[in-house]
Amino acid sequence: MVIHPKIRGFICTNAHPIGCAENVRQQIAYIKKQAPVTNGPKRVLVIGSSTGYGLASRIAAAYGSGAKTLGVCFEKEPTERKTGTAGWYNTAAFHNFAKTDGLYCHTINGDAFSDEIKAQTIAQIKEDLGQIDLVIYSLASPKRKDPETGEVYSSTLKPVGGSYTTKTYDTDKDSVHEISLDPANDDEIAQTIKVMGGQDWERWIDQLHAAGVLAQDCQTTAYTYIGKKLTWPIYGHATIGRAKEDLDRAAANLRSSYSDVNLSAWVSSLKALVTQASSAIPVMPLYISLIYGVMKEEGTHEGCIEQIYRLFTEGLYTDSPRLDEANRLRMDGLETNEATQAKIEALWNQVTQENFHELADYKGYHSEFLRLFGFGIEGVDYDADVEPQVSW
Ligand code: NAD
Repeated sequence: MVIHPKIRGFICTNAHPIGCAENVRQQIAYIKKQAPVTNGPKRVLVIGSSTGYGLASRIAAAYGSGAKTLGVCFEKEPTERKTGTAGWYNTAAFHNFAKTDGLYCHTINGDAFSDEIKAQTIAQIKEDLGQIDLVIYSLASPKRKDPETGEVYSSTLKPVGGSYTTKTYDTDKDSVHEISLDPANDDEIAQTIKVMGGQDWERWIDQLHAAGVLAQDCQTTAYTYIGKKLTWPIYGHATIGRAKEDLDRAAANLRSSYSDVNLSAWVSSLKALVTQASSAIPVMPLYISLIYGVMKEEGTHEGCIEQIYRLFTEGLYTDSPRLDEANRLRMDGLETNEATQAKIEALWNQVTQENFHELADYKGYHSEFLRLFGFGIEGVDYDADVEPQVSW
């Protein structure tokens, strides 16, 4: 099959197996060049392990700390006529590299919100790893089926408290325009918290603990985005921000509930990056195109793998982690500092359809978006016939 990108709206509906493998290879190569993570984890569970920050976490654990990694993700398998999802190919590639390098890995593909997948994961830990030293919670999902009630909750990306009009960038039509977003109602807020808040993270830890598979001094972290003034109305102070606040509640609860294993639970705040999840959020593509330009000029630009390597070395595995007043690990300072934000704000106020390509790093944004699906990567022959059915 010859595979070229098929873009629909903010998503690409296919993926390239060789391009995805190259993406994974480059992230591994980055970690191999860094100093090993001192006192890093040896047995790691990554929930949401196939793309974005979760994949980077798995790679940093395996190649930065020699960890055995168990991944959980929800990806589509390829068929003869249809490619798999990027996360499927990333996982297959990770398995190949890890096997070659003598690193244990296992991946469970299924709904992480369900109790069946939790039980399957626990059984796998008991069989292969005994216990776990680090649990990364990196899910991004539009829906969650509550395992107790069977009710399906949907998350919404809406402002809270009033409608909000702002600029946005439509990646599909390459147009900058105004959008007005209606405020969420109470039910939409509650449902978003059910999907992207801390309830499922707590359920995972509770079941792992009850099964006796959390090692002494185990750590766990979930990921958040806090951002600043420009993104607060649609993120930090909006429905998704309410869900992320619930992670802070969950972290505090986790910290106080499992003292027998001395569990450390963190919310880690990461920078805004192009991932499948962030491309779906109104305003974020415009904001990210602008910050990519500013941060590349400042020499402070980082991708998922650079952020996560720092999270391991400057956050999770150091005696002096950078914490904020809410006890969160902060890895987003290079983006959220006042000076950088002031530059972005100045650009934000000027940006129009006409000057967008000049003021923003659209090329950078677009090429990273394509890379998520394994496209536009140097050295990959996109006219070659490739086998879409890859497995792990
Ligand atoms: P992503 O879309 O790249 O990855 C999501 C992962 O979750 C994938 O591995 C996917 O397979 C898995 N997943 C989704 N639903 C699942 C389900 N039901 N069962 C099992 N696995 C499932 O997203 P990302 O951007 O890497 O986001 C990960 C976390 O990082 C999220 O909590 C997000 O809010 C946070 N974060 C993202 C950014 C950003 O700019 N992208 C910034 C800060 C924090």
